[in-house]
Amino acid sequence: MIEIVLKGIPAAPGIATGSAFILDKQEFIIPARAIMEQEVPIEIARFEEALIKTREEILGVQKKMSEEMDGQHARIFDAHLLVLEDRVLIEEVIKHIKKEKLSAEFVFSKILKRYIRAMGRIEDEYLRERASDVNDIGRRILKNLMDESKLHEFENLKEKIIIIAHDLSPSDTISMYHKNIIAFATDIGGRTSHTAIMAKSLNVPAVVGLKDATLKINNQDQVIVDGRMGLVIINPAPETIEIYRNEQNRIVALKDRFADIKDLPAETPDGRKVTILANLELPEEISLIAKSGAGGIGLYRTEYIYMNRAELPTEEEQYLAYQQVAKSLAPYPVTIRSLDIGGDKFISSLQVSKDMYPFMGWRAIRFCLARPDIFKTQLRAILRASVHGKLRLMYPMISGIGELRQANQILTEVKANLRQENIPFDEQMPVGVMIEVPSAVLTADILAKETNFFSIGTNDLIQYTLAVDRVNEQTAHLYEPGHPAVLRSIKTTIDAGHKGNLHVGLCGEMSSEPSLALLLLGLGLDEFSMSPMSILQIKKLVRSVHYADAQAVAQKALNLCTGQEVEEMASAKIKELAPHVYST
Ligand code: PEP
Ligand code: MG
Repeated sequence: MIEIVLKGIPAAPGIATGSAFILDKQEFIIPARAIMEQEVPIEIARFEEALIKTREEILGVQKKMSEEMDGQHARIFDAHLLVLEDRVLIEEVIKHIKKEKLSAEFVFSKILKRYIRAMGRIEDEYLRERASDVNDIGRRILKNLMDESKLHEFENLKEKIIIIAHDLSPSDTISMYHKNIIAFATDIGGRTSHTAIMAKSLNVPAVVGLKDATLKINNQDQVIVDGRMGLVIINPAPETIEIYRNEQNRIVALKDRFADIKDLPAETPDGRKVTILANLELPEEISLIAKSGAGGIGLYRTEYIYMNRAELPTEEEQYLAYQQVAKSLAPYPVTIRSLDIGGDKFISSLQVSKDMYPFMGWRAIRFCLARPDIFKTQLRAILRASVHGKLRLMYPMISGIGELRQANQILTEVKANLRQENIPFDEQMPVGVMIEVPSAVLTADILAKETNFFSIGTNDLIQYTLAVDRVNEQTAHLYEPGHPAVLRSIKTTIDAGHKGNLHVGLCGEMSSEPSLALLLLGLGLDEFSMSPMSILQIKKLVRSVHYADAQAVAQKALNLCTGQEVEEMASAKIKELAPHVYST
């Protein structure tokens, strides 16, 4: 077997070696199995047999139903039968089996998905609903095409697996918590897509944006996922396995290398003190955060509480979740971000179509202001939990003072109601604004007058400033944290915040990259919030570099013309100023 190396985008560090599990959205294992020329007629015959078998099954169900109920109910299967006779669909599958020389089930599942997607976009509601009939019948056909024993869901597997998927939504990723999953790799996605962020929370290596990994990797292939370099190696040669085994041992040996500074402050040798906090996605991570050396939580992404469920979480349920985090971290601060749905985060219980809230659409604070019922429930829960620790609240995606005032107006109403009900809360709870939209940067001086702190969300700020979708692998090379426009935006925000006596933090992925963190330190950032796994490395950096040197590096960066120049210069500087920080 030949070793094949696929290059993607590094999403979460680490190395894993194991057996591939191709995860299909329909939860079937659909191996992208290549076939030989002489197998083409066999595959076509298998496909046709599966159609006949499915037709027999449906007729059987229909017959049983008309015996037990009335004929009217049995008619619902007419639509299924029509799909089975759809020559356009059948011919297309046959054409692609011949052309692409891939297994019938793989070709069929891809075409089926395309059909379902297209039907879901049709204006006519009746026709749109037919997409679910097509989905149902498609699943039956797939089942008949495939060996039953392969129809496992990954949840039932005992062995450790590496998930290979076209895409994984953040809610798919949550369901992998505590399962036997040691890494994952996807065809699409970018470095700051929430799938990548979740991989860090799960503490598993991940590579995204591989473009066609699901086509090239077969089920149960041996693969190595190198989350640092963004590589996936299929059928690695013995020498490659050996190299990676040594690398893995080296990483394990380095794991605790900064443990001795865990309880020390994040202070430069010349006395500049900053805070380093953790980002929290799932409450399960609290124990990890406690061990990470974090001085609290700088971003609690509450939207995960709303995912993978039929109903919205109640006030009581949210209150219990927030108070648990507040109590566990006290006396350290916990910054709770109000609901930030949209973009790549979808919440099925809201029963709003995914198309309604793309990255530039009806997301985050815009959604909350339009649905005060949902917003107020969350604010009540946060305020009630505020007596159990040191909570701070922040709003995502604020684009101007108008939205901030509206959000604060709702907060004021919620507080008044709680007072009336004699329910205690922290009257002094700080309320901050995430700066992640260019209009917020440009009006940061105005926002600073009516808020208690800023937290810069560079994951979004970069995409909106550079017009580069953060989850699109095709434009991932243009997603440059060191771009002069991004650096100037960060500087403008920090300066405006400081002028208004505000504490300015940053909770995007940028803060955990040592060379970029060096720039941020030099730009005067007060607070760095990141995945717990990166905290000690960044703390070590802060404790190793003189603030004056970091300021000089930042000043130099501000005078450069391209993102590439900035990132190269910062990488060279960190190797010179703090070489021991930069090794994994
Ligand atoms: C950001 O945009 O930088 C951020 C921290 O928020 P999220 O990644 O959840 O959009
Ligand atoms: Mg954001």
